[in-house]
Amino acid sequence: MKAGKDKVIALHYTLTVDGEKVESSHDSGQPLWILLGHGQLIPGLENALQEHAAGDTLQVEIPPADGYGERQEDQIQRVPKKYFHEGNRLKPGMVTVLSLKQGGQRAVTVQKVGMTTIDVDLNHPMAGKTLNFDVAVQEVRDATEEEIQHGHAHPPGTEAH
Ligand SMILES: [Zn+2]
Repeated sequence: MKAGKDKVIALHYTLTVDGEKVESSHDSGQPLWILLGHGQLIPGLENALQEHAAGDTLQVEIPPADGYGERQEDQIQRVPKKYFHEGNRLKPGMVTVLSLKQGGQRAVTVQKVGMTTIDVDLNHPMAGKTLNFDVAVQEVRDATEEEIQHGHAHPPGTEAH
């Protein structure tokens, strides 16, 4: 079976950025399960997986525009410390999670820590980076109706939710 919209794919991957390994599904030993066509993956990786089948391996180089976007220099914001968990322990360069007024959370990078405020970079930590993925496709199957309703894959052993 070939990968495409409304298929579930299981894959192992290693992500390398600027010559350094950033993360790998081999670390946990568990493949990543993804429902294709529902925005679960960055566009460049989703496109690269189209038409691939179990047993395929591929190397994909994804420019920022098809990954996490270009860095935007106007994305630095000064935020009161009270909005951070453990704001006093943060140091420049650390990535932390900030709760947003409009709901939800996002990963931000600490730029500068002041007495009562912290300057954060709202760009995604991988913004502006070229991403190199080594991918090994483990399995491709049709998504269940429930998976399509939920907008994500249910790996083996997923409990009802
Ligand atoms: Zn679900």
